[in-house]
Amino acid sequence: MKEIMVTRSSMPQLEEYVEEIKDIWDTHWLTNMGVKHRELERKLTEYLDVENIELLSNGHMALELSIQAMNLQGEVITTPFTFASTTHAIVRNGLVPVFCDINPIDFTIDVTKIEELITDKTSAIVPVHVYGNVCNVEEIERISRKYGLKVIYDAAHTFGVTYKGKGIGSFGDASCFSFHATKVFNTIEGGAVCYRDKELGDKIYNLKNFGIRGEESVEGVGANAKMNEFQAAMGICNLRHIDEEIGKREKIIKYYRERLKNIEGIQLNCVQKEVKSNFAYFPVLFDEKKSGKNRDEIFKKLKESGIYARKYFYPLTNMFECYKKYYNSMETPVALEVSKKVLTLPLYADLSIGDVNKICDIIVEGL
Ligand SMILES: *Cc1c(COP(=O)(O)O)cnc(C)c1O
Repeated sequence: MKEIMVTRSSMPQLEEYVEEIKDIWDTHWLTNMGVKHRELERKLTEYLDVENIELLSNGHMALELSIQAMNLQGEVITTPFTFASTTHAIVRNGLVPVFCDINPIDFTIDVTKIEELITDKTSAIVPVHVYGNVCNVEEIERISRKYGLKVIYDAAHTFGVTYKGKGIGSFGDASCFSFHATKVFNTIEGGAVCYRDKELGDKIYNLKNFGIRGEESVEGVGANAKMNEFQAAMGICNLRHIDEEIGKREKIIKYYRERLKNIEGIQLNCVQKEVKSNFAYFPVLFDEKKSGKNRDEIFKKLKESGIYARKYFYPLTNMFECYKKYYNSMETPVALEVSKKVLTLPLYADLSIGDVNKICDIIVEGL
């Protein structure tokens, strides 16, 4: 049986990658902000339409180190409908996550519920642009100004997304991207922080490279989270093909939508106004009350045919073993409900229309 995975990493032609890494054999410069690192940094600043960027070893370190660089205290408002990384990055900085619910339309933070969670201990908001859907950046900006809070976006899903013609990484104090193998754009593992304030960038740089500033100068207490030259070379190659890759994803999603629209019991992802999407994911909500079939049954049916959809995100982070004794997921009821209904369907640039049909046939017949 042919298996269809939920995703498949984008890779350049082998020859293209070999050509890109050839000069590393001349220089023997494998890491530490080499030529490839600097070239990718330049190209991403342009592609993402941002002022400033720091490349890092992965998206998690982008989040963890940008939070650390802000010297935050106390509580941070975030959502539980996300990947483990978002909540862990807050907790690993000694901060307390306060979970805000999501809205049922685009699954990002419900901005009408943020203010009631703000206390005198609140120092920041960490919203997530889930599935590439853009948060209500304007309202978040207003609230953060009113209460003097920092905003760090988890932008792991929004590579290349723009809002009102502006790169999504230019909103908030910092936006953290992931270039993990499974994301729309990958550097094998990798990530970046886009930021507003140059001083913050300096702090993040210190944190990613032991605080080393010169041969004999160590300015700060830092870790090691550098992107190496092989990662950067992968990024340079993948970036050449990114528009084509996103275009292919768009076609696949169009087809999925055509097949699954207007079906009782199925809710498709929203289409946002003034957003240029990257077509990162295709989440579908299954409503048992309307169709008689729940998400887990559909998940199982697909699996029996060798199709691996993903319960993304389930469980909520406030239900994890390591957090559940401190939180009650009933306090984020919309997130809880969406997490029980959602399935992200297989999606990658080279997924064939034949496979999409097969997946949709199983879903439609299964309902
Ligand atoms: C992938 C991801 C991360 C972490 O990125 P890595 O590069 O895997 O460390 C963080 N947040 C979200 C929402 C993600 O999907």
